[in-house]
Amino acid sequence: MPELPEVETVRRGLQPVMAGARIVRVEARRPDLRRPLPRDFVKRLEGQTVTGIGRRAKYLIAELSSGDVLLMHLGMSGSFRVGRENDTKTPGGFHHPRPAAPAHDHVVFHMSSGATVTFNDPRRFGLMLIVPRGELAAHPLMRELGPEPLGNAFDASLLAAACAGKKTSLKAALIDQTIVAGLGNIYACEALHRARLSPKRRASTIAARGGAPNDRARALVAAIKAVLADAIKAGGSSLRDHRRTDGELGLFQHHFRVYDRDGEPCVTPGCGGTVRRIVQNGRSTFYCPVCQK
Ligand SMILES: [Zn+2]
Repeated sequence: MPELPEVETVRRGLQPVMAGARIVRVEARRPDLRRPLPRDFVKRLEGQTVTGIGRRAKYLIAELSSGDVLLMHLGMSGSFRVGRENDTKTPGGFHHPRPAAPAHDHVVFHMSSGATVTFNDPRRFGLMLIVPRGELAAHPLMRELGPEPLGNAFDASLLAAACAGKKTSLKAALIDQTIVAGLGNIYACEALHRARLSPKRRASTIAARGGAPNDRARALVAAIKAVLADAIKAGGSSLRDHRRTDGELGLFQHHFRVYDRDGEPCVTPGCGGTVRRIVQNGRSTFYCPVCQK
Protein backbone atom coordinates (compact mmCIF):
# COMPACT_ATOMS: atom_id res chain seq x y z
CA MET A 1 0.00 0.00 0.00
CA PRO A 2 1.39 3.40 -0.90
CA GLU A 3 2.45 5.54 2.04
CA LEU A 4 2.95 9.28 2.34
CA PRO A 5 6.16 9.54 0.26
CA GLU A 6 4.62 7.58 -2.61
CA VAL A 7 1.49 9.74 -2.59
CA GLU A 8 3.61 12.87 -2.47
CA THR A 9 5.55 11.55 -5.46
CA VAL A 10 2.28 11.02 -7.33
CA ARG A 11 1.19 14.55 -6.41
CA ARG A 12 4.40 15.93 -7.84
CA GLY A 13 3.84 13.92 -11.01
CA LEU A 14 0.25 15.17 -11.46
CA GLN A 15 0.89 18.82 -10.59
CA PRO A 16 2.61 19.84 -13.87
CA VAL A 17 0.01 18.21 -16.13
CA MET A 18 -3.16 19.04 -14.19
CA ALA A 19 -2.62 22.31 -12.33
CA GLY A 20 -3.63 25.29 -14.43
CA ALA A 21 -5.33 23.08 -17.02
CA ARG A 22 -9.05 22.63 -17.63
CA ILE A 23 -10.70 19.24 -17.42
CA VAL A 24 -12.18 18.94 -20.92
CA ARG A 25 -13.69 15.49 -20.64
CA VAL A 26 -13.95 12.78 -18.00
CA GLU A 27 -14.47 9.08 -18.69
CA ALA A 28 -15.90 7.25 -15.70
CA ARG A 29 -15.82 3.69 -16.93
CA ARG A 30 -17.51 2.15 -13.91
CA PRO A 31 -19.88 3.53 -11.29
CA ASP A 32 -17.74 2.76 -8.26
CA LEU A 33 -14.32 2.20 -6.78
CA ARG A 34 -14.22 1.41 -3.04
CA ARG A 35 -17.32 3.58 -2.84
CA PRO A 36 -19.71 4.69 -5.59
CA LEU A 37 -18.49 7.69 -7.56
CA PRO A 38 -20.69 10.74 -6.85
CA ARG A 39 -23.83 10.62 -8.98
CA ASP A 40 -22.92 13.84 -10.82
CA PHE A 41 -19.18 13.03 -10.89
CA VAL A 42 -18.55 13.81 -14.58
CA LYS A 43 -20.78 16.88 -14.62
CA ARG A 44 -19.06 18.50 -11.64
CA LEU A 45 -15.61 17.96 -13.15
CA GLU A 46 -15.98 18.73 -16.85
CA GLY A 47 -15.21 22.35 -17.70
CA GLN A 48 -13.50 23.04 -14.37
CA THR A 49 -9.95 24.29 -14.14
CA VAL A 50 -7.66 22.51 -11.69
CA THR A 51 -6.12 25.30 -9.65
CA GLY A 52 -3.71 23.10 -7.70
CA ILE A 53 -2.97 19.56 -6.52
CA GLY A 54 -2.49 19.21 -2.78
CA ARG A 55 -2.09 16.34 -0.36
CA ARG A 56 -3.37 15.57 3.13
CA ALA A 57 -2.02 12.35 4.67
CA LYS A 58 -2.45 9.79 1.87
CA TYR A 59 -5.19 11.74 0.10
CA LEU A 60 -4.67 13.75 -3.08
CA ILE A 61 -6.74 16.91 -3.29
CA ALA A 62 -7.38 18.51 -6.69
CA GLU A 63 -8.67 22.06 -6.19
CA LEU A 64 -11.27 23.04 -8.79
CA SER A 65 -12.30 26.47 -10.04
CA SER A 66 -15.91 25.67 -9.06
CA GLY A 67 -14.98 25.68 -5.36
CA ASP A 68 -15.21 21.92 -5.12
CA VAL A 69 -12.27 19.65 -4.46
CA LEU A 70 -11.73 16.22 -5.99
CA LEU A 71 -10.58 13.99 -3.13
CA MET A 72 -8.62 10.94 -4.30
CA HIS A 73 -7.01 7.95 -2.56
CA LEU A 74 -4.89 5.28 -4.24
CA GLY A 75 -6.15 2.47 -2.00
CA MET A 76 -4.08 -0.72 -2.22
CA SER A 77 -3.23 -0.85 -5.90
CA GLY A 78 -4.23 2.44 -7.52
CA SER A 79 -1.89 4.34 -9.81
CA PHE A 80 -2.02 7.27 -12.19
CA ARG A 81 -0.60 7.23 -15.68
CA VAL A 82 0.06 10.34 -17.67
CA GLY A 83 -0.07 10.33 -21.47
CA ARG A 84 -0.68 12.57 -24.43
CA GLU A 85 -3.83 12.67 -26.56
CA ASN A 86 -3.33 10.81 -29.89
CA ASP A 87 0.22 9.89 -29.06
CA THR A 88 1.18 6.64 -27.44
CA LYS A 89 4.90 7.44 -27.66
CA THR A 90 6.73 9.33 -25.00
CA PRO A 91 6.58 13.12 -25.36
CA GLY A 92 7.26 15.12 -22.26
CA GLY A 93 9.52 12.51 -20.78
CA PHE A 94 6.73 10.13 -19.78
CA HIS A 95 6.98 6.51 -20.70
CA HIS A 96 5.26 3.30 -19.70
CA PRO A 97 7.59 0.34 -19.43
CA ARG A 98 4.85 -1.79 -17.87
CA PRO A 99 1.52 -0.65 -19.35
CA ALA A 100 -1.30 -1.27 -16.91
CA ALA A 101 -4.09 -3.60 -18.01
CA PRO A 102 -6.65 -1.36 -19.78
CA ALA A 103 -9.47 -3.32 -18.12
CA HIS A 104 -8.49 -1.62 -14.86
CA ASP A 105 -8.38 1.91 -16.28
CA HIS A 106 -11.43 3.20 -14.40
CA VAL A 107 -11.27 6.98 -14.71
CA VAL A 108 -9.64 9.05 -17.47
CA PHE A 109 -9.22 12.83 -17.30
CA HIS A 110 -8.67 14.59 -20.64
CA MET A 111 -6.96 17.91 -19.90
CA SER A 112 -6.90 21.09 -21.99
CA SER A 113 -3.12 20.80 -22.07
CA GLY A 114 -3.50 17.71 -24.23
CA ALA A 115 -2.50 15.41 -21.38
CA THR A 116 -4.56 12.44 -20.34
CA VAL A 117 -4.46 11.28 -16.74
CA THR A 118 -5.63 7.71 -16.26
CA PHE A 119 -6.48 6.13 -12.91
CA ASN A 120 -5.85 2.38 -12.94
CA ASP A 121 -6.83 0.26 -9.93
CA PRO A 122 -7.02 -3.56 -10.24
CA ARG A 123 -8.24 -4.14 -6.68
CA ARG A 124 -10.52 -1.10 -6.58
CA PHE A 125 -9.80 0.06 -3.02
CA GLY A 126 -9.17 3.53 -4.43
CA LEU A 127 -11.50 6.43 -3.83
CA MET A 128 -12.75 9.52 -5.68
CA LEU A 129 -15.15 11.93 -4.05
CA ILE A 130 -16.16 15.52 -4.74
CA VAL A 131 -16.46 17.74 -1.69
CA PRO A 132 -17.11 21.51 -1.43
CA ARG A 133 -13.83 23.03 -0.25
CA GLY A 134 -15.46 24.60 2.78
CA GLU A 135 -16.64 21.19 3.99
CA LEU A 136 -13.32 19.39 3.52
CA ALA A 137 -11.84 19.89 7.00
CA ALA A 138 -14.97 18.51 8.66
CA HIS A 139 -15.33 15.61 6.19
CA PRO A 140 -15.44 12.21 7.95
CA LEU A 141 -12.29 11.08 6.10
CA MET A 142 -10.36 14.22 7.09
CA ARG A 143 -11.50 15.35 10.52
CA GLU A 144 -9.86 12.55 12.53
CA LEU A 145 -6.47 12.84 10.84
CA GLY A 146 -3.54 13.77 13.04
CA PRO A 147 -0.87 16.31 12.08
CA GLU A 148 1.20 16.07 8.90
CA PRO A 149 4.55 14.56 9.93
CA LEU A 150 6.53 16.94 7.71
CA GLY A 151 4.62 20.00 8.90
CA ASN A 152 6.08 22.46 11.41
CA ALA A 153 3.29 21.72 13.88
CA PHE A 154 4.46 18.13 14.27
CA ASP A 155 7.18 18.11 16.91
CA ALA A 156 8.31 16.15 19.95
CA SER A 157 5.86 17.92 22.28
CA LEU A 158 2.91 17.04 20.09
CA LEU A 159 3.93 13.40 19.62
CA ALA A 160 4.71 12.89 23.29
CA ALA A 161 1.41 14.42 24.35
CA ALA A 162 -0.43 12.12 21.93
CA CYS A 163 1.42 9.04 23.24
CA ALA A 164 1.31 9.88 26.95
CA GLY A 165 -0.87 7.37 28.76
CA LYS A 166 -1.06 5.07 25.71
CA LYS A 167 -0.67 1.41 26.62
CA THR A 168 -0.26 0.36 22.98
CA SER A 169 3.14 -0.34 21.44
CA LEU A 170 5.11 2.53 19.99
CA LYS A 171 4.80 0.93 16.54
CA ALA A 172 1.00 0.81 16.85
CA ALA A 173 0.94 4.46 17.91
CA LEU A 174 2.97 5.51 14.87
CA ILE A 175 0.59 3.91 12.38
CA ASP A 176 -2.45 5.35 14.18
CA GLN A 177 -3.62 8.02 11.71
CA THR A 178 -5.14 10.12 14.50
CA ILE A 179 -1.69 10.52 16.13
CA VAL A 180 0.28 11.27 12.97
CA ALA A 181 -1.16 11.21 9.46
CA GLY A 182 0.21 9.26 6.52
CA LEU A 183 2.74 7.05 8.29
CA GLY A 184 2.29 3.35 7.49
CA ASN A 185 3.98 0.08 8.23
CA ILE A 186 7.12 0.63 6.17
CA TYR A 187 8.14 4.08 7.35
CA ALA A 188 7.11 3.43 10.96
CA CYS A 189 9.60 0.52 11.02
CA GLU A 190 12.27 2.60 9.33
CA ALA A 191 11.83 5.56 11.67
CA LEU A 192 11.99 3.37 14.79
CA HIS A 193 15.24 1.83 13.58
CA ARG A 194 16.79 5.23 12.90
CA ALA A 195 15.73 6.40 16.35
CA ARG A 196 17.03 3.13 17.87
CA LEU A 197 13.73 2.56 19.65
CA SER A 198 12.09 -0.84 19.97
CA PRO A 199 8.72 -1.16 18.21
CA LYS A 200 7.55 -3.17 21.25
CA ARG A 201 8.19 -0.35 23.71
CA ARG A 202 5.08 1.18 25.27
CA ALA A 203 4.04 4.35 23.44
CA SER A 204 3.80 6.22 26.74
CA THR A 205 7.56 5.83 27.35
CA ILE A 206 8.39 8.69 24.96
CA ALA A 207 6.71 11.11 27.38
CA ALA A 208 7.80 12.21 30.81
CA ARG A 209 5.27 12.51 33.61
CA GLY A 210 2.77 15.17 32.62
CA GLY A 211 3.17 14.42 28.91
CA ALA A 212 6.32 16.44 28.21
CA PRO A 213 8.63 14.97 25.56
CA ASN A 214 11.82 13.15 26.53
CA ASP A 215 14.91 12.44 24.41
CA ARG A 216 13.19 9.41 22.84
CA ALA A 217 10.38 11.60 21.54
CA ARG A 218 12.86 14.08 20.11
CA ALA A 219 14.89 11.33 18.42
CA LEU A 220 11.75 9.72 17.02
CA VAL A 221 10.33 12.91 15.52
CA ALA A 222 13.68 13.68 13.89
CA ALA A 223 13.82 10.13 12.50
CA ILE A 224 10.26 10.29 11.13
CA LYS A 225 10.93 13.55 9.32
CA ALA A 226 14.27 12.31 7.97
CA VAL A 227 12.98 8.98 6.70
CA LEU A 228 10.02 10.60 4.94
CA ALA A 229 12.14 13.36 3.42
CA ASP A 230 14.66 10.81 2.15
CA ALA A 231 11.90 8.68 0.63
CA ILE A 232 10.30 11.64 -1.12
CA LYS A 233 13.71 12.62 -2.41
CA ALA A 234 14.22 9.14 -3.81
CA GLY A 235 10.91 9.40 -5.61
CA GLY A 236 8.93 7.18 -3.32
CA SER A 237 9.25 3.48 -2.93
CA SER A 238 7.39 1.15 -5.16
CA LEU A 239 6.74 -2.10 -3.43
CA ARG A 240 4.82 -4.70 -5.38
CA ASP A 241 2.36 -3.15 -7.80
CA HIS A 242 2.55 0.49 -6.85
CA ARG A 243 3.82 2.71 -9.64
CA ARG A 244 4.80 6.31 -9.99
CA THR A 245 2.59 8.50 -12.17
CA ASP A 246 4.98 8.28 -15.07
CA GLY A 247 4.95 4.50 -14.98
CA GLU A 248 8.39 4.11 -13.53
CA LEU A 249 9.13 2.09 -10.44
CA GLY A 250 10.76 4.00 -7.62
CA LEU A 251 14.11 3.07 -6.20
CA PHE A 252 13.78 3.73 -2.48
CA GLN A 253 13.04 0.09 -1.62
CA HIS A 254 16.74 -0.63 -2.10
CA HIS A 255 17.55 1.71 0.76
CA PHE A 256 15.35 0.23 3.48
CA ARG A 257 17.30 -0.38 6.66
CA VAL A 258 15.00 -2.95 8.25
CA TYR A 259 11.79 -3.27 6.23
CA ASP A 260 11.58 -6.67 4.49
CA ARG A 261 15.14 -7.50 5.60
CA ASP A 262 14.31 -10.36 8.00
CA GLY A 263 17.47 -12.35 8.77
CA GLU A 264 19.85 -9.81 7.23
CA PRO A 265 22.55 -7.95 9.16
CA CYS A 266 21.64 -4.69 10.88
CA VAL A 267 23.15 -1.68 9.10
CA THR A 268 23.76 0.33 12.27
CA PRO A 269 27.56 0.76 12.46
CA GLY A 270 29.09 -1.54 15.05
CA CYS A 271 25.75 -3.19 15.95
CA GLY A 272 26.30 -6.71 14.60
CA GLY A 273 22.63 -7.60 15.16
CA THR A 274 20.27 -9.38 12.79
CA VAL A 275 17.00 -7.89 11.58
CA ARG A 276 13.96 -9.77 12.85
CA ARG A 277 10.34 -9.91 11.76
CA ILE A 278 7.60 -10.03 14.37
CA VAL A 279 3.84 -9.59 14.07
CA GLN A 280 2.15 -6.72 15.91
CA ASN A 281 -1.57 -6.14 15.59
CA GLY A 282 -1.63 -8.45 12.58
CA ARG A 283 1.07 -6.51 10.72
CA SER A 284 4.72 -7.36 10.13
CA THR A 285 7.24 -5.34 12.07
CA PHE A 286 10.94 -5.44 11.15
CA TYR A 287 13.49 -4.33 13.72
CA CYS A 288 16.91 -5.01 15.22
CA PRO A 289 16.65 -6.40 18.77
CA VAL A 290 20.26 -5.41 19.47
CA CYS A 291 20.34 -1.66 18.80
CA GLN A 292 16.62 -0.84 19.14
CA LYS A 293 15.78 -0.57 22.82
ZN1 LIG B 1 21.13 -3.11 15.11
